[in-house]
Amino acid sequence: MTRSFDQLWAETFRHAKMNAPFYRESLRGINGPPALSEVPLLDKTTLSERNLDFLCVPRERIAELVTTSGTTGEPLLWMLTDADVRRLARNEKLSFDCVGLTARDTVLVAVAMDRCFMAGLAYWLGLREIGCGVVRTGASSSLLVLEMIQRVQPTAIVGVPSFLRLVADKARESGVDLKNSSVKKAVCIGEPIRDAAFALNTSGKAIEESWGAKVYSTYGVTELANSLCECDAGQGGHLHEDQLHIEILDDAGQPVADGEVGEVVATTFGVEAMPVIRYRTGDCAALFRAPCSCGRTTPRLGPIVGRKNQKLKFKGTSLYPSTLTAVLEQSAGVDAFVIIARKESELSDAIEVLIHGEASVLAMRETFQARAKIAPQIRTATREEIELLQMPPTARKRRTFVDLR
Ligand SMILES: [Zn+2]
Repeated sequence: MTRSFDQLWAETFRHAKMNAPFYRESLRGINGPPALSEVPLLDKTTLSERNLDFLCVPRERIAELVTTSGTTGEPLLWMLTDADVRRLARNEKLSFDCVGLTARDTVLVAVAMDRCFMAGLAYWLGLREIGCGVVRTGASSSLLVLEMIQRVQPTAIVGVPSFLRLVADKARESGVDLKNSSVKKAVCIGEPIRDAAFALNTSGKAIEESWGAKVYSTYGVTELANSLCECDAGQGGHLHEDQLHIEILDDAGQPVADGEVGEVVATTFGVEAMPVIRYRTGDCAALFRAPCSCGRTTPRLGPIVGRKNQKLKFKGTSLYPSTLTAVLEQSAGVDAFVIIARKESELSDAIEVLIHGEASVLAMRETFQARAKIAPQIRTATREEIELLQMPPTARKRRTFVDLR
């Protein structure tokens, strides 16, 4: 029997308030489950500072310890009980059900199973739950991935888009016909493959083209022990409402209308070890409540358009760097680019775009005007200047957006 939101929320509230030191303190004096909207929002800084105060069970009940990737701050330590691991398996099974995977599929998991990541474990659990054959190549060698594709003929692959593109490059170099390989589905994690309107972006198109496979986007957050995966319709990741509740909030913390972009704020249901209530993920996306053409009636989370702290204010409108990146990636004649944001005033940021290639500043100005409806400052630059901005000596990761605000 499916349980109602009220039942699930009441259970999470009572469990967290009774057992987590953090919630015993912050929910003190609140009797009975209040309306969810009355509980203060939880940000990543608090979660990080009070990390172990979110633990609801004694350490002997912990079955798995993982860490977040730490791309946005200090990695968090996250723990799961045996029941949480089973919940994770069920969640991932439901997500892969959306992709249409069955026991007949053999799936190559090109994601790290070690290094304390939850993702690889979750995929493995979910695929086993469905009954798929699993090949755990990890993502350290594109050659191993290619070799295993030829040897075991997997029907699907799970991986990070930039790695899948790397494998495609390697296939081209070594004369492997990836396009006609056995892999017909590519589940993409960690990087966007669609723009805000659900159209495939450059990366999504490149993967479909080079792999001859259909791409599916999936979005997961370690702290939520949850992922949302697209179905064949490619209209957002389906939410499993008995495991997670999602609110989309504006800058003032108020809910936005259906289909409007705001910050993804989530509350976990059914988590034993470390439940979170109204957790601000920092990711921005829209939620769509209309039934999907696949027949599912669960809400769908649209593509992540950016991080909340990257949101740009520009002459009365707000936008995310991903909007500009999409325009630049799709413009012929732009070989390299970088977007720089500076603070101009409280109300507006200055945006400068450096381009290298055959495209003229004038042409790009028109393209931005037509496609993004804004007119950033544009200038041409040498490839060296752009590369230095993309990858300064201290950086660990290449970036196309430089935030100097
Ligand atoms: Zn659907």
